[in-house]
Amino acid sequence: MKDAPGFDKAAASANAFVTLVTNRDYVLGATALLRSLHLTGTEADLVVLYTPGVEAEELEPLRAFGARLGRCGRLPTSSAFNERHERGRLHKAAPFIKGGKPVFHTPLDNFVKLRLWQLTEYDKVVFIDADAIVLKNCDKLFDYPEFCAAPNVYETLGDFHRLNSGVFTAKPSEATFQNMLSRLDQPEAFWRRTDQTFLEHYFPDWHGLPVFYNMLQYVWFNLPDLWSWHEIHILHYQYEKPWQTEHPKAKTLRPLIDLWQVFANGKEIPEDVSDLPNPSKSVI
Ligand code: UDP
Ligand code: MN
Repeated sequence: MKDAPGFDKAAASANAFVTLVTNRDYVLGATALLRSLHLTGTEADLVVLYTPGVEAEELEPLRAFGARLGRCGRLPTSSAFNERHERGRLHKAAPFIKGGKPVFHTPLDNFVKLRLWQLTEYDKVVFIDADAIVLKNCDKLFDYPEFCAAPNVYETLGDFHRLNSGVFTAKPSEATFQNMLSRLDQPEAFWRRTDQTFLEHYFPDWHGLPVFYNMLQYVWFNLPDLWSWHEIHILHYQYEKPWQTEHPKAKTLRPLIDLWQVFANGKEIPEDVSDLPNPSKSVI
C-alpha cells in the first residue's frame, strides 16, 4: 500500500490501541499512556505512529511497553490545504477561547490520525490521544462498530451532540482511507477543529461512547457532578498538558496532574483509582 506507515515489527494481535506522536512533547504523553495501557493487562498491540519530527532514540522509552512503532509522513494534502490549516492561520480563523493550546501543538499533525485506516493488518483499532491515560481495561471497545467516539463535553450539557476525537474506534480499510483523503482536501475546505471536525462530517451517524471513555479534564471544574472516578476509563488532558511546567489551570487541576505524573514516571501508581476523592459537587 503506497505510503502506509513502516513498522519495526509485525503485528501480534488482531486489534490495536494506537496513538500518534509528532514531536518530543507528545512522546512524554505517550509514555504515560502506554504505561497505563500496559497496566490494564490488554493483549491488543500497542501501536505508536510517529513522523520524522521525532528522533528514533526519543522513542526508546516506548519500547519498554512492547510498542510497535510505525513511521509515517503527514497526509499528502495540497499546499493550499496545508496553508489554510497552518497554526497561525487556524488560530486566527477559529480562535480557541475556552482553553489554551500549548506552543508545541501543530494542527496539521492532527490529520495524521486518519492513517489508522491504513492499518489493514488489524480487524479493529482504537485511537487514543497521546495526552490521555487509561484507568480501566478498555478491550471491549474492539467489539464496538465503526465509528464510535465520546461526546465533547467539558463545559455545558449542550456539548453532548459534538464528538471528541481523542478516543475513537475504526475499522481499517484502504478504500475508506482513500475516500477520506478525497473528501478531506476539497478546494477551500477548512476544518476548524482539524480531524475532529472532519470525522464528525465524515461519520454523521457516529455512535456515542459513554462519556467515561473520554473524560475531559475541564469536567473536573466545569461539570463536577459528572465526575466519577469509579467509572472513568480514559482521562484526557485536552488543552493544557500535564507535562507543561506551569499553566493557568495547573492549580485547579493539581490532583489530575499529579495522577498523570505517577503514570509518567512509574512510581506509586494507585492500584485502583475508584477511591480517589471526586471534586466537590456543585451546590443546588
Ligand atoms: N499530536 C501530535 N503533535 C502535534 C499535535 C497533535 O503528536 O503537534 C497528536 C497527539 O497524539 C495529540 C493528538 O494528536 O494527543 C491531538 O492533539 P492534542 O491532544 O494536543 O489536542 P487536544 O486534545 O488538546 O484538542
Ligand atoms: Mn488530546
